[in-house]
Amino acid sequence: MSPTIETRTTVQSPQISKFLKQPQKMLINGEWCDSVSGQTFTTYDPATGDVLAEVPRGGPEDIDHAVKAARTAFEETSWARLRPNLREDLLWRISQAIVERVEDFAELESLDNGKPIGIAHAFDVRAAADCFRYYAGWPSKIQGATNNPSMLLAPTEVEFHSYTRREPVGVCGQIIPWNFPLLMAAWKIAPALATGNTLVLKPAEQTPLTALLLGQIMVEAGVPAGVVNIVTGYGDAGAALSGHEDVDKMAFTGSTEVGKKIVNAASGNLKKVSLELGGKSPNIVFEDADIPSAVGGVLQGFTLNSGQACEAGTRVYVHEKIYDEFNQALAEQVRTLKVGPGNDPESAITPLVSEEQLNRVVGYLNAGKEEGAHALVGGNRHGDSGYFVEPTVFTDTTEDMSIVREEIFGPVAVSIPFSDESEVIKAANKSEYGLAAGLWTTDLSRAHRVASRLNAGSVWVNTYHALDSALPFGGFHQSGWGRELGPESIELYTQVKSVTMAL
Ligand code: NAP
Ligand code: MG
Repeated sequence: MSPTIETRTTVQSPQISKFLKQPQKMLINGEWCDSVSGQTFTTYDPATGDVLAEVPRGGPEDIDHAVKAARTAFEETSWARLRPNLREDLLWRISQAIVERVEDFAELESLDNGKPIGIAHAFDVRAAADCFRYYAGWPSKIQGATNNPSMLLAPTEVEFHSYTRREPVGVCGQIIPWNFPLLMAAWKIAPALATGNTLVLKPAEQTPLTALLLGQIMVEAGVPAGVVNIVTGYGDAGAALSGHEDVDKMAFTGSTEVGKKIVNAASGNLKKVSLELGGKSPNIVFEDADIPSAVGGVLQGFTLNSGQACEAGTRVYVHEKIYDEFNQALAEQVRTLKVGPGNDPESAITPLVSEEQLNRVVGYLNAGKEEGAHALVGGNRHGDSGYFVEPTVFTDTTEDMSIVREEIFGPVAVSIPFSDESEVIKAANKSEYGLAAGLWTTDLSRAHRVASRLNAGSVWVNTYHALDSALPFGGFHQSGWGRELGPESIELYTQVKSVTMAL
C-alpha cells in the first residue's frame, strides 16, 4: 500500500495569498465583474482537495456581454488599426510583466493545477512570457504581396495594380484546457493581439486562476477595454461562445470529443475554427539508439505534467533486440520518481488535476489489467488522499486494448516490441490521432526517413516535448485543425484580402 500524502494547502507568496483572498471576478469590457446569475464555482488544490477560490460561473448571458464588448472594441475603436510598433510595445510589456511575476504565476499555477512548482517556474510561466515576446516581434513583419493579374476581360491598354493585405479575423472565441492553463492562454491571446483581433477567453473550470491574474497584468499593461475579455465558467459557457453568431473565429484546445462539438456549434455562422486536440503519440526506440538518453527521453515523454500533456509519448515501441534491457532500465527509472504535491521540489509525479481525472486514469489502469496487460511498474492509485496515481508502464498489450488506443492523460505508457522499421512505422501510424511522435536512433538516414513517414504534426528525434514559440504545433487526423505558434498562428488569426485597381 502506498503512503498517505499528508499535506494542507500553504501559500508562500504574499501577493498570491492576497490574490486568493480577494473575490475573483471576470473581465468584461475592461471591468471586473460577477456573473449575471451571481453564481460561482469552486476551484481546488488537487494535492489536498482544499478550496483555493470561488470564481464567477459565467453563462451564456455573460458570454453575450463579452462578445458584444469584443465586437465594439473591434469595430468602433482604433485597436484593429493600432500602429505596429505600439502593438509590439504592448505585447512586450505583457511579456515583461509575466517575467517580473514569474514566482507568483508559478505558485498559482502549481496550486490550481497541481503541477510541480519548479516546472511551472522553469517551463509554463517562462514559455508563456516567451510566447508574448515572440509575437511582440510580429506586428511590424506582417506583409502582403503585390500581384501581376492579366485580367482577361479588360482592354489590353488598361493596367492594373493589385496587392494583398493580411487583416484581423475579428472577434475570436478561445477555449482552453486545464493541463497548461497559463501557457495555453498565452498561445491563444498573444497571436490574436499581435494581429489586431479582439477576444473572449474561457479558461477550464478546474484551473481559472492564472488566466485571471494574466488578465490583471494585461489591463495594467494597457490592453484597451473590450479587447481581451475573460469569462470563467463551465462547458455551457464554452458552448455559448462557440455557437455565438457574432464570433468570427474559434480556437480550441482540449479533448477530441469537445472539439467535434465546437465544429458543430461553429457551423451556424461558419466561423473559422482551429483545434488542438488529443493524442496517443508513438515514441520509437531503434536498436541503434543511445539507450540511456532514450530511457530518459521516453520517461520524460509520458511523465511530464504527470502525463497530462496532449503530445505525451504514451505508445513506446522498442526494438526486440533491446526490449528487455530497455524495459528494465525504464522501470528502474520510473521507480525513482517521487510522487508528491507540486510544492515539494522533490516531487516528479504530482496529483492529477481533479477527482474526475483520477477516476478516468484509474479506470484505464484497471481496464489494462483486466484485459490482460502486465503492469511492469505502477498500475494503481497512489495513497488515498489527493488525486495521485503511480507512474505506470504496461507490457504484454495487444493493439485492441483501450490503454493502447485511447488517450489516458495520466503518467501511463505501454511498451511494445517491434522487429523492423516498416512494421513500426505502420504500427505508429495506426491511430486516429497524429499530434506528435518521437524516435531514437543514431542512424542519420533512418532519422529523416522515419520522420518523413510518421503521421504527426511534430516529430522529435533523440528528444521529446521540444516545443517552442517559433515552431508550429498541431495535429494530423483527429488531433486537430491548423497549427499554432510560429508564423502559422499569424495566418490563423488573419485573413487575406486582395485589392485591385485599374490604373
Ligand atoms: P474538455 O472537456 O475538452 O475541456 C476543454 C475545454 O472545453 C474546457 O474549457 C471546457 O470547459 C470546455 N468545454 C467543455 N464542454 C464544452 C462544450 N460543449 N463546448 C465548448 N466548450 C466546452 O477536456 P476535459 O473534460 O477537461 O478532459 C477530458 C479529456 O480530454 C482528458 O482526459 C484528455 O484526454 C483530454 N484533454 C486534452 C487536452 C489537450 O491539450 N489536447 C487538454 C485537456 C484534456 P470545462 O472546463 O468547464 O469543462
Ligand atoms: Mg483547481
